[in-house]
Amino acid sequence: MLLRHTTADVMERSALTINPAKTCQPIGALYAALGVHNCLPHSHGSQGCCAYHRSTLTRHYKEPVMAGSSSFTEGSAVFGGQANLLQAITNMFAMYNPDIIAVHTTCLSETIGDDLVQIISKAREEGKVPPGKHVIHANTPSYIGSHVTGFSNMVKGIVTYLAENSGRKRNQVNIIPGWVEPSDMREVRRLSRAMGVNCNIFPDTSDVMDAPQTGRHEFYPRGGAPIEEIRHSGDSRSTLALGPTASEAAALKLEEKCEVRSEVLELPIGLVATDRFINALRHRSGIRVPGFITDERGRLVDMIADMHQYFYRKRVALFGDPDQLVSLTEFLVTLDMRPVYIVTGTPGKRFETRIREALGDSVPEAQIRQGPQADMFLLHQMIKKEGVDLLIGNTYGKYIARDEDIPFVRFGFPILDRVGHSYFPTVAYMGAMRLAEKILSAVMDRQDRNAPEESFELTM
Ligand code: SF4
Repeated sequence: MLLRHTTADVMERSALTINPAKTCQPIGALYAALGVHNCLPHSHGSQGCCAYHRSTLTRHYKEPVMAGSSSFTEGSAVFGGQANLLQAITNMFAMYNPDIIAVHTTCLSETIGDDLVQIISKAREEGKVPPGKHVIHANTPSYIGSHVTGFSNMVKGIVTYLAENSGRKRNQVNIIPGWVEPSDMREVRRLSRAMGVNCNIFPDTSDVMDAPQTGRHEFYPRGGAPIEEIRHSGDSRSTLALGPTASEAAALKLEEKCEVRSEVLELPIGLVATDRFINALRHRSGIRVPGFITDERGRLVDMIADMHQYFYRKRVALFGDPDQLVSLTEFLVTLDMRPVYIVTGTPGKRFETRIREALGDSVPEAQIRQGPQADMFLLHQMIKKEGVDLLIGNTYGKYIARDEDIPFVRFGFPILDRVGHSYFPTVAYMGAMRLAEKILSAVMDRQDRNAPEESFELTM
């Protein structure tokens, strides 16, 4: 009983967060920066922040994560971090030769008020940025928002610095995939190409955070969106932004800066959200959906029909990031499950409305909570008050699952205590099949474990 002090009585809190359902902004900014080819992310703050951000990503992806740090000391906290960042830019280009350095701020540099635009201009004026190389930045104060906000801010920063409108349109579509796994980005590319869409995906962490083992360490793996392609995003015909919280800001920036019209979709997680994604691609390419994609969809529908009797009316609690939660809620409703508690620590527009739309009129009693006090403690209290049949969320849910003896499916970020999850997509039809199988296995493992000997069956 690790969380034995949690009570079922929910007290309204205004200034206290207990076990937040989110993590800090720079982690998302760092992950987005890794989706640019030959990019070295840089943390403008103290070494401890950078070590934490890198280790959280490494523990989730089981890959080395490179990043520089401005290594603030007491002096930087008093006089500002300009001198440290200028020195860091010189050192990183000299020693590690990246094509681009993506700087994100931290709580400390934001509190000091370091002006990143001015410092980066100064670095350029002083010749610290070699010709053809880039330094970009995003402001990521962690006392606002969450890791998803940081991801969104860095993707917007990538567009702000790199996208250009040359005046000559290219027959291509930008896809901003949102904060999803490298395998998800690969799946989005596979389907887009199959649908006849010439896609320009950024950021793209496939072959960076899941690079194949070759026996040789590559400081810059072969993956990541090339800078040249990001530059051409300003000439694309349109942009598809997947997941409003993570991707909408960059799409709107591209619209404003380069007049590339955009459409924002929910993440293609589950049957209905994937249908919308495929339909959006179909509208852009004008081709019929290839037979093998229709077959993938058909297999998912068949699988749902086989599993439906076990899913029916099961109560589910979910926590995590807004974009994932909205699509997952819709998928659970498709399975005839009942998402009753939905909690995110990440602020963002229209979360409750989007969840209500995903629920339709299926679960009127659902409790939706968002913000600093929408934390793991509150979720545990809600579950204690009225239990659920399943919990879905990141690694931190395991404490609640164990204390309340609930089947638990790991989904989202971070997953620190399992290996391999980032290699399998959860987006699109194939991803939905994997999710449905994981959910049913968790529910049935529990049923097996609790079954009395006389009803411990081979066929369930
Ligand atoms: S919350 Fe702020 S101080 Fe803490 S690790 Fe994140 S950026 Fe650094």
